[in-house]
Amino acid sequence: METIEAIRAILEKGNVVAMTGAGISQESGIPTFRGKGGIWERYNPAIYANVAGLFGVFLTKPYRMRDFILEFYETIHNAKPNKAHYILAEMEKRGILNSIITQNVDNLHQEAGSKNVIELHGNMLRFRCTKCMKENKFDEEDLEEFIYRLKRASRLQLIRLIFPKCDCGGRYRPDVVLFGESLPQDEFGRAYVEVENSNSLLLIGTSGIVYPAASLPFYAKEHGVAIIEINPSPTALSHIGDYTILEKASIAMPKIFEFLTPPI
Ligand SMILES: [Zn+2]
Repeated sequence: METIEAIRAILEKGNVVAMTGAGISQESGIPTFRGKGGIWERYNPAIYANVAGLFGVFLTKPYRMRDFILEFYETIHNAKPNKAHYILAEMEKRGILNSIITQNVDNLHQEAGSKNVIELHGNMLRFRCTKCMKENKFDEEDLEEFIYRLKRASRLQLIRLIFPKCDCGGRYRPDVVLFGESLPQDEFGRAYVEVENSNSLLLIGTSGIVYPAASLPFYAKEHGVAIIEINPSPTALSHIGDYTILEKASIAMPKIFEFLTPPI
């Protein structure tokens, strides 16, 4: 049997869990942080990817911090889900996909219509009060206004915009996992349960080098879950995959699911 047909046969059985990484977002115009052209080439992650570092930059070069944050949010604002995102959302609607476990923070899965998304590294569009834990999520309009105000903010307005005050007196911050911060244990717990209870794990655009997220496919393997990998080049996980398609997800996914017609 041809690889595509074999994969389709496994996925059509249902009880599928997808795990996605930077690769799927890259196809939507979001450069990988680490890769060539990625944001960490221009901003040192040792400084910019942690709260203390960001505050330090704010005190000495407030507009450099603003530019960094602006670049992040403008990139997300300009990115649109691709065919792979839409097909995953359609698979969920049809009841063959249980959940998506993602390392991405760009909200593209939700934008495509996916409901059960486990976000291992948080979500850039969600803000959380550091004191009372209250959450606030940006919609498209909020994001546009945020970008507009960020571009015009004075030094003092910047901090209020980026870390707005909550009713409780605490401050909100983007609900993403920065360097040196612990990962959300609840999300990881859910991810392990989802993987353990699935028939197949569909790995899309994940390099398999960022731990502990990369441990999930090994956990799946241990539990007899079929592993299907879609990535343009071999990864650290390819050797454990039952099937590997060396192609972009936005090309490979429509081949597997010809019968699903995503709205793009
Ligand atoms: Zn609060």
